[in-house]
Amino acid sequence: MTDITRDVVIVGAGASGLTAANDLVKAGKTVAVLEARDRVGGRLWTREIDGAMLEIGGQWVSPDQDALIGTLEELGLETYSRYREGDSVYVDAAGALTTFTGEIFPVSAETQREMERLIGVLDELVAEIGIAAPWEHPRAKELDTVSWKAWLEAQTEDQEARDNIGLFIAEAMLTKPSHAISALQAVQMAASAGSFSNLVDSDFILDKRVIGGLQSVPVALAEKLGDDVFLNQPVRRIEHDDDSVTVVADGMTVSAKRVIVAVPPNLYSRIDFQPALPRRQHQMHQHLSLGLVIKVHAVYDRPFWREAGLSGTAFSPYETVHEAYDNTNHADPKGTLVGFVSDETADGLFALSDEERKQRVLTSLSHYYGEQALTPEVYYESDWGTEEWTRGAYAASFDLGGLSRYGADLRTPVGVIHWSCSDLAAEGFQHVDGAIRVGRETAAAIVSDLNA
Ligand code: FAD
Repeated sequence: MTDITRDVVIVGAGASGLTAANDLVKAGKTVAVLEARDRVGGRLWTREIDGAMLEIGGQWVSPDQDALIGTLEELGLETYSRYREGDSVYVDAAGALTTFTGEIFPVSAETQREMERLIGVLDELVAEIGIAAPWEHPRAKELDTVSWKAWLEAQTEDQEARDNIGLFIAEAMLTKPSHAISALQAVQMAASAGSFSNLVDSDFILDKRVIGGLQSVPVALAEKLGDDVFLNQPVRRIEHDDDSVTVVADGMTVSAKRVIVAVPPNLYSRIDFQPALPRRQHQMHQHLSLGLVIKVHAVYDRPFWREAGLSGTAFSPYETVHEAYDNTNHADPKGTLVGFVSDETADGLFALSDEERKQRVLTSLSHYYGEQALTPEVYYESDWGTEEWTRGAYAASFDLGGLSRYGADLRTPVGVIHWSCSDLAAEGFQHVDGAIRVGRETAAAIVSDLNA
């Protein structure tokens, strides 16, 4: 067992923990980052599967994500645009395929008007409630105690408009069924991206990727820290008092003045805090859970859909794969499609055999792109639910009523213990941008505290 001493110990080598660690080092503090896995990056992971380079976790960068964009510039990492020339496709409830351009799906004029009206209502709510402290708004409790599904039902009788608007938040973002998330959580999700209109605009929200993959960010941040990053060190216990902390991992112990717990909040209870956390944290943490989404990768000898004038962008709240995109790598002659299967649909697929699940997914892709989609050269499903040190995807959100009840305390330190994660962010909530923002803010708070 190795014993070391540092100013600050960081639990978790994801984008958030590594950002905090680098900022602390820049401010003259000594750090140790303890990571449970045998790699850095957490929910960012670039792998080679059967010869194909795949981004198993997070990958896209949007133009409002200035914390992430700033980090990319600082690290000298280059980006490229997602392919988006040509028509998008939409499959309606009856299974009919239509092509379209722009953001609004090709629905009847009446449904289109309803969708545009709902987007307007949501944009206004987002502007009014804002992202800094949604729980403080006078309507917070009202909106947090009604499900996203029920809120949409109260807004419009148009089922297709509800299904489509619901999709943008439920399946596509929080990856939970629309009955399991609140309207306030939906507003918060949209506010974290600037507006509901931004979320609906895939050209905005899924704008760019990083050459070599987004995991290059944590990898480069870890390189800067050198020997201060310790892999295969799951933290089991945190002993803390008024001004010091001892963090016990499988192979080492770190004594420090402060600790940053930079893991998703659903994993806090895996750590034995001594003394135990306060009642408020015990309660709050039980109301935060990760969603579930399967990210499906299918690689073909060429991006065949482009020959048919298709961009690769596809949506349907009625399909197994509710959204899919051209995910061809930079300067790669092969064509890659990425699709997503969310929440209860994912549960259903996981009940099938591997082969049946693959066929179900590829059949769904063929509804968007035709028969050629049935025979990829490489097929892979990112399954974050089985990852012990994550347990779902994309990120954590509150159950009904949780955001208004506990939001204000999400990041409140407990003595020498600080919390940092994308799932606790305001701007960039559930995204790498948010992970970086919270990492920076947490480091700054600790530096000012230690220097006081
Ligand atoms: P994490 O990345 O989860 O890092 C936490 C780290 O802590 C992990 O390395 C974990 O192993 C470690 N850990 C956990 N417990 C312990 C312990 N007890 N001891 C030691 N270490 C521990 N975001 C985007 O911006 N764009 C996208 O396109 C996008 N797509 C996504 C697609 C998928 C499939 C997934 C899963 C996520 C996606 N995200 C996306 C979200 C993004 O990846 C995350 O928000 C972000 O990477 C989280 O960073 P983090 O540092 O806060 O947490």
